[in-house]
Amino acid sequence: MEYKQIIDKIFSAVKAEKATGKVADYIPELATISADKFGIYLFGLDGKNCEAGDSREKFSIQSILKVLSFTLAFELVGEKIWERVDVEPSGTAFNSLVQLEYEKGIPRNPLINAGALVICDILISELNDPEKEFIGFVKELAGTSEINYNLRIAASEKAHAYRNAALVNLMKSFGNIHNNTDRVLDFYFTICSIEMTCQELARTFTLFANRGINHFTGNRVISSSKSKRISAIMQTCGFYDEAGEFTFRVGIPGKSGVGGGIAAVYPGHYSVAVWSPLLNDKGNSVRGMKALEMLTTLSEASVF
Ligand code: GLU
Repeated sequence: MEYKQIIDKIFSAVKAEKATGKVADYIPELATISADKFGIYLFGLDGKNCEAGDSREKFSIQSILKVLSFTLAFELVGEKIWERVDVEPSGTAFNSLVQLEYEKGIPRNPLINAGALVICDILISELNDPEKEFIGFVKELAGTSEINYNLRIAASEKAHAYRNAALVNLMKSFGNIHNNTDRVLDFYFTICSIEMTCQELARTFTLFANRGINHFTGNRVISSSKSKRISAIMQTCGFYDEAGEFTFRVGIPGKSGVGGGIAAVYPGHYSVAVWSPLLNDKGNSVRGMKALEMLTTLSEASVF
């Protein structure tokens, strides 16, 4: 079956089924979104792109950005990064504090909040103007300048930042945060607030489908080895405490966010972004997971 037919089939199936799940409300601004939204965009490296639903509407990418901040930090500091963050699935919630205490402030991986906060700390140390340079990096990957932070969402998150503040302070006590903790939190909330459409997100993740080459400029951004490693971390750690379930059902690497988005890649073939704000109790988009499961099942193609 052609990808276009599969995307149409997914769209009809999703629309026909009664939606379950809950829109994230712990960041009050996120709760204002309509629960019905559903969009999907598949970017084929062969130039065959297809989409359905609200695929051109902006949404808050939230934790999906952690893949991009990690990519930039890994490129800037290289293998030294592993002194500050590990590569193991956490088996706990994205904002959990428990492991950090007995693992002496070294986060399990860069895709949980603690790991992403360490990555923010590294970017603040390495970049002259972190906010500007980071969004510039994302725009370059997406091949568009139409990408921005939503500072209303960042402020809404900052007003309820108790857990992230606890994480950053605990890591500071272990010496794994080098900058001022408020500066790290502000940078983290700002970059989490990036808004993109499914189309822009799929375009951005072509970097990993294309094994480290920017599809739009033809420039190599990261080595193919780094692209492999980042994709491996997405596969094992990209879905909070449900990375096993996503791997089992879908079978390609990806990353979810509490805004209801998922970006995923089939290296050498395509990148895909899907968005539906209704989340399951692990924090992953219910329809997003279902859509990607249908995609790899109907196409009979995945990394496994
Ligand atoms: N900014 C969100 C937080 O730290 C991101 C969570 C997510 O998308 O997983 O709570």
